[in-house]
Amino acid sequence: MKIAIAGAGAMGSRFAVMLTQGGNEDLTLIDGWPEHVAAIKKNGLQADLGEDDKGVGKGVGLQVPVWLQSEVPSGEQFDLVIVFTKAMQLGQMLHDIQGVLGPQTKVLCLLNGLGHIETLEKYVAKEQIFLGNTMWTASLIGPGKVKMFGTGSVELQNVAPGQEDAARDLAEFLSKSGLNASYSADILASIYRKACVNGTMNCLTALLECNIGQFGQMAPAHAIVTQVVSEFVAVGRAEGLDLNESELVAHVESCYDSAVADHYPSMYQDLILHKRKTEIDFINGAIARKGRKYEIPTPYCDLLTAMIHAKEELLGAK
Ligand code: NAD
Repeated sequence: MKIAIAGAGAMGSRFAVMLTQGGNEDLTLIDGWPEHVAAIKKNGLQADLGEDDKGVGKGVGLQVPVWLQSEVPSGEQFDLVIVFTKAMQLGQMLHDIQGVLGPQTKVLCLLNGLGHIETLEKYVAKEQIFLGNTMWTASLIGPGKVKMFGTGSVELQNVAPGQEDAARDLAEFLSKSGLNASYSADILASIYRKACVNGTMNCLTALLECNIGQFGQMAPAHAIVTQVVSEFVAVGRAEGLDLNESELVAHVESCYDSAVADHYPSMYQDLILHKRKTEIDFINGAIARKGRKYEIPTPYCDLLTAMIHAKEELLGAK
């Protein structure tokens, strides 16, 4: 299968390493960060795979074709394109790679956040789109260098009716490379479930400059989480999803004393540590927008979105 990873940051790089190690050698990276592309061209993609049982560091250097997204040649079409940009980069990426998206190309979107189908549908037919989410994690530690840790999974579903078998085949294909993928009969509910965690922990730890465990210790934490989750649930229900509000609040709050308690979520890392713009418009911002459409008040999501944008300005985020 001819595969492209469009958005070869932390997660795109991780998936590239796993798919290549799983025997898929016809794989191309496409990315918009010139220094990253140049480093991969020069030294290959360097992956830190953590330590083995004896505490010895493991790593691989992947020699893989890589294209700058503004220089994608046309004429070559891929069977599978996995998009892994940040949410706000998705439209530009799809625009830039139109030349490699043929009528048979399947596009798998595993980005966090809401509203990606509308963006994808501007560039490919609904039948070609597969939507999912993933519990795998990774970090870029510099241009051309990815750190992979922990285990994870992928859930995915077809967007157009009648493509269930194609979605199941795609999940099976990913699992052959150890990606632990499964077909979901209700991917939007799973995406909302993850968005409830991102829509609370991401923006609140970034605004308060704390980790997940520290946030959980704060007296107002429960009231804030309950209100934000209730806005996600109200909007999700307006979209026809069957969401259990108290289960979702408990799901978010279970992070406080879990293995991720000491973790600073990606929005904190992007904004506070690296002064990068955030995906807020596709998490709380998406709920605020959808809330206006359905005439559902979303005051906490409105405020959190505005506060994160204010902090982006304050820090000169790019
Ligand atoms: P990322 O920020 O590592 O990469 C996204 C894009 O930004 C890539 O094109 C990358 O080259 C570019 N980029 C990264 N650092 C840059 C820098 N310093 N300067 C300029 N460009 C830079 O994003 P990611 O973590 O791979 O996330 C992709 C999607 O997957 C997002 O929607 C994210 O929410 C989701 N996701 C991430 C994780 C994770 O552990 N990283 C887990 C699950 C889902």
